[in-house]
Amino acid sequence: MPWQYQCGVCRVQTEWGSREAAEDARSAHRARAHGGLIPTDETLTGDTDEEKQGGEILLKILGIGVLFGVLKWITEHL
Ligand SMILES: [Zn+2]
Repeated sequence: MPWQYQCGVCRVQTEWGSREAAEDARSAHRARAHGGLIPTDETLTGDTDEEKQGGEILLKILGIGVLFGVLKWITEHL
């Protein structure tokens, strides 16, 4: 999943790359341009498609778990 760092204060952004690269760029930019302080308008953006899919998978797993729990409860209480 590609990641990008943007500083809205300086209006700069990195190329899309690894999350590690974007975080490194963030640290370097904060140190260089903002004296180590955190700019008021910065974002670390990930291409969210995969993140959403990951969330959906997690929800499905959770849903299946709840379903099994309910089925287990029903069979135990009948
Ligand atoms: Zn900046």
